Amino acid sequence: MTMQTTQPTYRLEQKRKITGEFPGPKSAELGARRAKVVAGGVASSVPVYVADADGGIILDVDGNSFIDLGSGIAVTSVGASDPAVAAAVSEQVGRFTHTCFMVSPYEGYIAVAEKLAALTPGDHEKRTVLFNSGAEAVENAVKVARIATGRTAVVAFDHAYHGRTNLTMGLTAKANPYKSSPAGSFGPFAPEIYRVPMSYPFREEAEIKGEDAARRAITMIEKQIGAENVAAILIEPIQGEGGFIVPAEGFLPALTAWAKEKGIVFIADEVQAGFCRTGAWFASEHEGIVPDIITMAKGIAGGMPLSAITGRADLLDAVHPGGLGGTYGGNPVACAAALAAIQTMEEQDLNGRARAIEEQVMGRLRALAGEVDIIGEVRGRGAMLALEFVQSGTAGSTKEPNAAATKAIADACLKAGVIILTCGTYGNVVRLLPPLVISDELLADALDVLEGAIREAAAA
Ligand SMILES: *Cc1c(COP(=O)(O)O)cnc(C)c1O
Repeated sequence: MTMQTTQPTYRLEQKRKITGEFPGPKSAELGARRAKVVAGGVASSVPVYVADADGGIILDVDGNSFIDLGSGIAVTSVGASDPAVAAAVSEQVGRFTHTCFMVSPYEGYIAVAEKLAALTPGDHEKRTVLFNSGAEAVENAVKVARIATGRTAVVAFDHAYHGRTNLTMGLTAKANPYKSSPAGSFGPFAPEIYRVPMSYPFREEAEIKGEDAARRAITMIEKQIGAENVAAILIEPIQGEGGFIVPAEGFLPALTAWAKEKGIVFIADEVQAGFCRTGAWFASEHEGIVPDIITMAKGIAGGMPLSAITGRADLLDAVHPGGLGGTYGGNPVACAAALAAIQTMEEQDLNGRARAIEEQVMGRLRALAGEVDIIGEVRGRGAMLALEFVQSGTAGSTKEPNAAATKAIADACLKAGVIILTCGTYGNVVRLLPPLVISDELLADALDVLEGAIREAAAA
């Protein structure tokens, strides 16, 4: 049986266009208004303000069209105005916007839970809880693991990112800007969080097998925490903010096997990697692991705020009635959007689309890496791809991070009309997160711009 797939349709012309000065006068005016009322702690990657967005294009208030290689941080995988999502949201808004599932429940919440039970790895019985943000999902996965195990310790990894609330700041590895800066700290942070080494193939001192990298982390847990004290191991199967780090093959299976043996809840934080982003519904699938609990958000609902935890029924049902929830968690409009977004992912085979994007981007970037010596590594899966930049001539030796080149490349791309995001513990990674509905032609144009910016930075 062949699957019938539909093609995306676009409202906005899918073409890059920069007109006149940059940022334009209307964006400059909004920037001035913003400076008077919006807190300085909230930073934006680009200085232009959005008027419209569709497919792979973001249109600013001055009429500039940018190619979007960020998807609002891996959120708008189905596009920023998918017609199916827009219709589902309108329909739901016309009936009711909110009742609170904890007060008077509705079908959409249940339908999303059914969908997540079917899509997440493993055919065991599952339960789901819905929330609003990724951080909230992570917090609640930890709450469940602690109740279910009667233990308190949580293990997180080097280069991890899990959010900005108090608990998730503590779970996040990078200090500046998430936890502190030289000017001050957001702490104190929550106790009983322990950090162990990640498998980061590009930055290992010597090549190390995935199983051995897992053993290194496990030994540290056994010696410094005690397996019997650990409620949960929390890990991004492909790390996001930390630098799109794909662990060595065998690392995740060895960790899950050991966690299972010790009665430790294995939580996969798929907030960034989930929902077709890596060419599979979840990044966990690439290594055949079945997490006890999965956290989800970003790509789940076509841009509407929704997050979820789905996991083993025995774990989730260990929590007393009333122990989990929140006023807005599983908002009916967000649930309608999620059901429509997931349907678009299925109908347009966005997993296949992500794999096609990988082929198109990787082919070009690997060839470029052979010519340009500031590219340390090209990595990632599906449409979650990254370039790690190093100082010229150090790729085969000290691999000195090159944050300056990374920033120069992002700036040059923006001026030419391509929005790209950076990340990484050392600020030296360009990450590519195009909407999965981007056309081949638009992506090719963006890659031309990126390649030019990289060659320029390498020659500087
Ligand atoms: C973005 C992110 C979070 C936090 O999600 P928010 O919705 O910003 O709270 C948590 N984990 C991972 C892996 C993320 O990428």
